[in-house]
Amino acid sequence: MRDGILEGSDPMTNPSLLILAGDGIGPEVMAEVKKIIGWYGDKRGINFDVSEDLVGGSAYDAHGTPLHDNTMAKAQEVDAVLLGAVGGPKYDDLDFSVKPERGLLRLRKEMDLYANLRPAQCFDALADFSSLKKDVVAGLDIMIVRELTSGIYFGEPRGIFEEGNERVGINTQRYTESEIERVARSAFELAKRRGNKVCSMEKANVMESGILWREVVQRVHDTEYPDVELSHMYADAGAMQLCRWPKQFDVIVTDNLFGDLLSDAAAMLTGSLGMLPSASLGAPMANGRPKALYEPVHGSAPDIAGQGKANPIACILSFAMALRYSFDMGDEADRLEKAVEQVLADGKRTADLLGEDGVQPVTTSEMGDAIVEALNASL
Ligand code: NAD
Repeated sequence: MRDGILEGSDPMTNPSLLILAGDGIGPEVMAEVKKIIGWYGDKRGINFDVSEDLVGGSAYDAHGTPLHDNTMAKAQEVDAVLLGAVGGPKYDDLDFSVKPERGLLRLRKEMDLYANLRPAQCFDALADFSSLKKDVVAGLDIMIVRELTSGIYFGEPRGIFEEGNERVGINTQRYTESEIERVARSAFELAKRRGNKVCSMEKANVMESGILWREVVQRVHDTEYPDVELSHMYADAGAMQLCRWPKQFDVIVTDNLFGDLLSDAAAMLTGSLGMLPSASLGAPMANGRPKALYEPVHGSAPDIAGQGKANPIACILSFAMALRYSFDMGDEADRLEKAVEQVLADGKRTADLLGEDGVQPVTTSEMGDAIVEALNASL
């Protein structure tokens, strides 16, 4: 077992999953994931111990807090947490301390989820949605691993201070060797299950934290993962290469700030927000599984909530990531991703994926049903 990534698990007990559907379109897209979880039980004999609870605005409405302590305790116990989305205009005027997003931040912090995985995968049927040329993105499948719990968003000193007769805003980029080591291991472990290539990005040319980052990633590689191909790139050059020829990458590992920017840029190579899953992984638990939270990248989309327009694929692909990274069921994750690909190839589109060609959109529920049908066809 290596930090953050599963190598084996106890086959005697059902894997446990805590579902936190949240607000807005969260419950709508999660309903489609539940169909798929049901399908795995009925058709593959793969059963999950599923529990459900509240997070975000819905938790605030029920308990006056965006994450009840009991929910936090449950999240610490289960094998994986699957979250829909939180937030909405109804909660905009709440005090900062109880805003829906605080529930999500508390989960990430208390579970110490230090490796954020953001795949950028382009399904052929959607290659026209990218802002880049079709041949640059068709078949793209890269993974950005962003360090999530340290770096400039957390370093001290921070604040706005008086200096002479003006103010100065200060943030501090700070990384310890152990923080770099653990996220590097996550990236190398992932690469071993994919294309066996890691590119580490920092600014070692101008930042001491970048020099240390590069040294430590190289050391983890040389001592623990010599068989994985490693390269280093300055993050600004990396941004350029991501736009020029993204298929040169397999796994990219980078710090919190650069990862924030690079993962958003890479995500847009592939089209709609409704298609993007993510995972946040932490240290291994006693059973060998990493602490893990899976969630779509999108928010609660209040503009379309309750209308059956939400695309459930980002949430469904987040569950596919759970199959792969928490439950060691890579073949089943492949099956689910292929089912999504098939449905898209068949021309099924939710409203966010419509082009100019007069195709009628399917509803959230119809998209879920079509994916279940494609799963049936895979047997
Ligand atoms: P958003 O992601 O909710 O929506 C942005 C746009 O994308 C909207 O037009 C929306 O309709 C569309 N969209 C998003 N997901 C979609 C899907 N699955 N299918 C089809 N269309 C989809 O971002 P926003 O509008 O900036 O934020 C809305 C609320 O969500 C805010 O309260 C914000 O704080 C919250 N938010 C939560 C998360 C989270 O839970 N992780 C992330 C971002 C924003």
